[in-house]
Amino acid sequence: MRPEAVEAMLPFLTEHFGNPSGSHAVAREARKALDEARDVVAECLGAEPGEVVFTGGGTEADNLAIVGTHAARRGRAVCTAVEHHAVLHACAAVGGDVVAVRADGVVDVSLLPNQLGPDVSVVSVMLANNEVGTVQPLDAVAAAVRDQSPEAVLHTDAVQAFPWLDVASLARCADLVAVSAHKFGGPKGVGALVVRDGTRLAPILHGGGQERDRRSGTHNVAGIVGMAAAMRATVASRVDTVARVTVLRDRLADGLLAAIPDAAETGDRSSKVAGNCHLSFAGVESEALLVLLDGAGVCASAGSACTSGAIEPSHVLVAMGVAKERALGSLRLSLGVATTESDVDFALEAVPAAVARLRETA
Ligand code: PLP
Repeated sequence: MRPEAVEAMLPFLTEHFGNPSGSHAVAREARKALDEARDVVAECLGAEPGEVVFTGGGTEADNLAIVGTHAARRGRAVCTAVEHHAVLHACAAVGGDVVAVRADGVVDVSLLPNQLGPDVSVVSVMLANNEVGTVQPLDAVAAAVRDQSPEAVLHTDAVQAFPWLDVASLARCADLVAVSAHKFGGPKGVGALVVRDGTRLAPILHGGGQERDRRSGTHNVAGIVGMAAAMRATVASRVDTVARVTVLRDRLADGLLAAIPDAAETGDRSSKVAGNCHLSFAGVESEALLVLLDGAGVCASAGSACTSGAIEPSHVLVAMGVAKERALGSLRLSLGVATTESDVDFALEAVPAAVARLRETA
């Protein structure tokens, strides 16, 4: 977590221990902190404070957006094939449709009119993809939605975008915007959904009517305060972070492509967020590669999943048309605000060595 987030959270983690008898004072402090956090989150997301709904993370925000819109308006839900499962499965739960993407992972806006129509109530297109980092052309998507499905709301999952992109301006065209604190140095289990004024949404949690009846449940005050602090710090340093991490990512990706025969980069680097390095290696199984890298001290991921005993390629790579063998040999190395030159040097030694070892034993 970012130190700013930890520091902001501390008083609220200890409130009951430090102040066992002053419950009214504690409640007032908590209310004030919540209001201040809401102002910060709203500003960082280009929204009004009343448009911010605090949630228990990105998954809940995505579900509220899709299931909540569907419950309020019925109609058809539509999302892209490369969405996170929080969107994909929420869309499936309300019987929604999936739209294809191009080989570079970008939604084909020219095909959208065939998939939309007046019966659509919610369209969900992520701002940046969690596996391959591709950024979607949200303004063009919004224009197609307004044209073909004027009654529909546009939801964007900005969970992966927030550390890297100016979500406040890029997602201005969306009616609903989801973020998750742990993706930008905040605590886990807290997030937010921007619900633009006038957007009709039914709650998916019923209870005490918090968040103006849009999300019942006692507020996670410490988490929300930590999220706001991390958001403010992220926005303040974002331009510098992106510039620095882009250089590191390019060195890492170019270095690995040069050092490893039969390696390929996934997607088009110019349309990816700075922190994403996604490659695939012929003749290598990612699961085995991850084990070797873990042993060497490199944390990475593959995106494939074990379903019914068989390793299945990631749905994102399948949607991009990546061949199965290639998809099963893929590797995602994520860079963040804390990544250093020496981390990159380390990965540039460890990954080629691990790939070579696996190829020798194949
Ligand atoms: N959406 C995207 C794009 C994500 O990457 C994630 C988490 O990795 C989520 C949604 C879910 O967020 P959370 O882990 O806060 O539930």
